[in-house]
Amino acid sequence: MPAVVQLVLSPREAADERVYLPLAARKLGIREDRIALARIIHRSVDARSRNIKVNLGLEVFVDSEGKPAEIHFEYSDVTGRPSVIVVGAGPAGLFAALRLIELGFRPIVLERGKDVSARKKDVARINRNGPVDPDSNYAFGEGGAGAFSDGKLFTRSKKRGDFRKILEVLHYHGAQEEILYDAHPHIGTDRLPRVISALRERVLSCGGQIFHSARVEDIFVKGGKVTGIAYNEGQRIEACAVILAAGHSARDIYELLVRKNIMLEPKAFAMGLRVEHPQAVIDRIQYHLPERGEYLPAAAYSLVSQVGGRGVYSFCMCPGGFIVPAKTAADEAVVNGMSPSERHSRFADSGIVTEVRLEDFAHLAPQYGVLAGLQFQRELEQAAFARGGGRQIVPGQRLTDFISGKASRDLPAMSYHPGAVPTAFGQWLPEFLGKSLREGLTSFGEKMRGFVTGEAVLLGVESRTSSPVRIPRDSATLMHPQVEGLFPSAEGAGYAGGIVSAAMDGERCAEAAQRYMSEQAL
Ligand SMILES: Cc1cc2nc3c(=O)[nH]c(=O)nc-3n(C[C@H](O)[C@H](O)[C@H](O)COP(=O)(O)OP(=O)(O)OC[C@H]3O[C@@H](n4cnc5c(N)ncnc54)[C@H](O)[C@@H]3O)c2cc1C
Repeated sequence: MPAVVQLVLSPREAADERVYLPLAARKLGIREDRIALARIIHRSVDARSRNIKVNLGLEVFVDSEGKPAEIHFEYSDVTGRPSVIVVGAGPAGLFAALRLIELGFRPIVLERGKDVSARKKDVARINRNGPVDPDSNYAFGEGGAGAFSDGKLFTRSKKRGDFRKILEVLHYHGAQEEILYDAHPHIGTDRLPRVISALRERVLSCGGQIFHSARVEDIFVKGGKVTGIAYNEGQRIEACAVILAAGHSARDIYELLVRKNIMLEPKAFAMGLRVEHPQAVIDRIQYHLPERGEYLPAAAYSLVSQVGGRGVYSFCMCPGGFIVPAKTAADEAVVNGMSPSERHSRFADSGIVTEVRLEDFAHLAPQYGVLAGLQFQRELEQAAFARGGGRQIVPGQRLTDFISGKASRDLPAMSYHPGAVPTAFGQWLPEFLGKSLREGLTSFGEKMRGFVTGEAVLLGVESRTSSPVRIPRDSATLMHPQVEGLFPSAEGAGYAGGIVSAAMDGERCAEAAQRYMSEQAL
């Protein structure tokens, strides 16, 4: 059995095994040359005091003790096996496909967007303020919404699936080893496409199918059971199980379900703005140092506040990152964030969002019914677009001006490539939203001295944090209560938020589909 050693080190010591291995040996009471292998199993930064420490957990194998086996996954050939349709190749769809293969089923994945390499070019064009392809952008295309992101891999819903396995599968397909032990693992937008390509190649090499540029436009139901789907103007595929993992930007899928009288439920969601600071400002606040130096990672934060009974919180924080245009249609303004693996940009951004409740969009219900929340979201994105400078040029305001209710005359330096034009968000955001964000941000400034600064900018709108609609499903079978064989999955169905929880939900839906298919075969 390997020994586990916990060390508390300076950032510099933690970065150098020539320093920490002798310390580990001393702690175990052995000579250093008896260490056959030492693996980091945990790493976190403790910056609560000025004397910043790194907690390092090591697994130490002594002498010739049996070394750990490399993690390996068995994916067998599923050619000719019964098939299950998967709509969407985001984290949920890809992990559903891999799990189906493990269970001996053949996934047929339909993805409206291009493969991740071709998609890269479309995303680069959007960033240069070029037109948005409605099927290939920051939200749509192979890899889903998380493909060009920070690739943060933590989740609050660890109990709902095998969190560790998701990290191991990502590592097995090329993600860096650190994701297995960092307290806040992330992959980075520069590395994610390679991992996504490897996941796709795995599915294909096992006999699964992936159709790109294949937008699903219909779901067929007969006698209360799914019979297949149609894509690209009438091409059909038959199957008795469909995992619907189309994400929360697939408004056409929600509209399809409404047209087909397949029940949906409105739900509360979250919206707001994205704030960006120079990374050096966040480093100074979090590390209490004039500069973070060579050994500390770009500092992060996580903030939450209650304003008049409504939660306001920071979301999807990207240290050393970039703000990006995450819209899916020409006449919207939507922002989000991403960072490269090294997190070396000069900026730090995060969504600052607040709860949007059913009563906030009740006025739209008479006309839009169950899709009232979606319409609320769309109207705000269109209002932001109208106040931008065309294409991806979004409205922005200095944080200090937003708090004091003043229009900004100009904007500070920022990471957002297409550019921004000054606005006064308070004049056109719905009142509850503007008020909650203003009070929330003010309280963040009290919690993190220096957070409220004229060097920080707000860009809008951060509207795609969660789905305004839930596609109901039975908690045991994971099937839609009206349609046997239809498995609403992950973020678009309202059961996940983030890459890992979506991947875990995709796996669960694959397992549920396997149970259903096995029962059908009896
Ligand atoms: C810029 C950005 C940064 C983010 N950063 C992070 C992060 O660092 N960490 C994190 O955990 N989360 C992050 N997220 C959120 C994360 O990406 C999502 O939570 C996650 O991708 C949801 O997974 P999903 O599989 O449910 O849906 P999605 O990822 O949305 O995937 C759905 C897929 O379905 C496809 N599709 C849609 N409609 C159809 C149709 N009709 N036919 C066929 N295919 C269809 C889409 O093209 C898409 O590929 C980020 C999101 C964005 C936009």
